[in-house]
Amino acid sequence: MSPPAQAGLIAALREIVGADRCLAREAELVAWECDGLTLHGSRPSAVVLPRDKHEVARVVRACRRFATPFVARGAGTGLSGGAIALDGGVVIECAKLDRILTVDVENRLAVVQPGVVNAALSAAVRPYGLFYAPDPSSQLACTIGGNVAENSGGPHTLKYGTTAHHVLALELVLPDGELLRLGSPTGFAPGVDLVGAVVGSEGTLGVVVEATVRLTPIPEATETLLAIFPDVVSACRAVGAVITSGLVPAAMEIVDRRTIAAVEASVYAAGLPLDAGAVLLVELDGPAEALPGQVERIRALCAAEGARVERARDEAERERFWRARKGAFGAMGRIAPDLYVHDAVVPRAKLPEVLERVGEICDRRGLRLANVFHAGDGNLHPNISFDRRDPDELARVLAAGREILEACVAAGGVISGEHGIGTEKRDYMCLVFAEDDLDAQRRLRAAFDPDGVCNPGKVLPTPRFCAEANPKARGYDRVPL
Ligand SMILES: Cc1cc2nc3c(=O)[nH]c(=O)nc-3n(C[C@H](O)[C@H](O)[C@H](O)COP(=O)(O)OP(=O)(O)OC[C@H]3O[C@@H](n4cnc5c(N)ncnc54)[C@H](O)[C@@H]3O)c2cc1C
Repeated sequence: MSPPAQAGLIAALREIVGADRCLAREAELVAWECDGLTLHGSRPSAVVLPRDKHEVARVVRACRRFATPFVARGAGTGLSGGAIALDGGVVIECAKLDRILTVDVENRLAVVQPGVVNAALSAAVRPYGLFYAPDPSSQLACTIGGNVAENSGGPHTLKYGTTAHHVLALELVLPDGELLRLGSPTGFAPGVDLVGAVVGSEGTLGVVVEATVRLTPIPEATETLLAIFPDVVSACRAVGAVITSGLVPAAMEIVDRRTIAAVEASVYAAGLPLDAGAVLLVELDGPAEALPGQVERIRALCAAEGARVERARDEAERERFWRARKGAFGAMGRIAPDLYVHDAVVPRAKLPEVLERVGEICDRRGLRLANVFHAGDGNLHPNISFDRRDPDELARVLAAGREILEACVAAGGVISGEHGIGTEKRDYMCLVFAEDDLDAQRRLRAAFDPDGVCNPGKVLPTPRFCAEANPKARGYDRVPL
């Protein structure tokens, strides 16, 4: 953009939100240069912090007038480079849209602005005996707007589903600045499921300015078990055995030996055994009467795979286990300056073989791997610690990342479970989609955003890239689900 046009854009944005909520100085913009994936960065031309949906709509219209792309942003905890502004775009930071507008206990729903922090919503509705079920490990920071855009999951996805299962209605500022309501608080809306299209669209169809979400009754009782295994493969086998038995725990999370070491050396330390090959955290919830029998069955199934099982004796101990699990990514900061958190899904039965393959890939490339993942969902998070100042190590990290994704796809999996595609995996979409599938997605996007101004450059690869990658020749011409 020419300097006069840039000055005109900033003046227009300041007129809408005021000078204090429109940041444009270099030093101010640094914090919005990347999200949780620090490998991908791009400085925006401005960051605006609107306070209501009408300001969002006016900001979008101003961007259009100056032919400038824009991207909505929540807390910036995304791990796929989704919330960065490419090509000098404007960041619409939703942090100040942080009000819970309605709590409807009878209908078990809440209407919230997009900047409401995930954990804050559950805390606010706890007095009514309710909670908001999707609980990403980043829930102390991430926002409902970001969760909707990424269709976020979390440790309790196994029983409660992802964000998509908890969104009833949305209000969206479309890329032309119009406000549009989708869905219905009843959960029943006639016609095409456009809420379903927006959830998981990674901010490419518009800016979510209001979400009506389902609230869930807090279960009568909860039991949390820590099964300590000699190695990660036997822990994976136990997960398969539990599911085969017909039990549906609320969560089944695996933390491997290297992750335990990092956690126990950090502020998240929970007394996890340092000599374990892996621990499996199993949470059961439901009617108090039903749980003791389920606990015993889980104990037996884990013991059959060589585990000893401990049970959280009280809420404080349960919270300590979960703090260790949810703090695991943060604790890995102790291993190296940089962390690449991968995210892919494989059929549960393939977990042992894929984890061995991931270990082999990282060993061969001399990389530091630690696994902590949503085992019940088959949702892997191979975490590679590295130092980006070492170009050789960085190249090995990126090459290993591609190999890991290819191994997951070859095992019948997909390239993301919950962190999204963003800029990170845009060029890997050809591993799981053929060109005509991608074209259908492009057409859906164009129906909302014909001019390509809303979070451009994310999710979908350029047609040329995919043609060159030739997915059919690679044998992946359909989503292998
Ligand atoms: C330590 C850690 C643990 C994590 N654990 C999990 C986990 O267990 N499960 C999981 O699913 N993810 C996890 N994540 C990833 C991340 O927290 C989620 O993707 C989260 O939903 C992002 O929310 P955010 O508010 O930070 O969004 P941002 O990072 O700010 O944005 C993410 C995407 O949402 C879009 N967006 C944001 N707000 C809006 C809006 N109002 N309208 C339209 N689009 C919008 C952005 O454009 C971007 O594409 C983790 C991340 C970290 C750092």
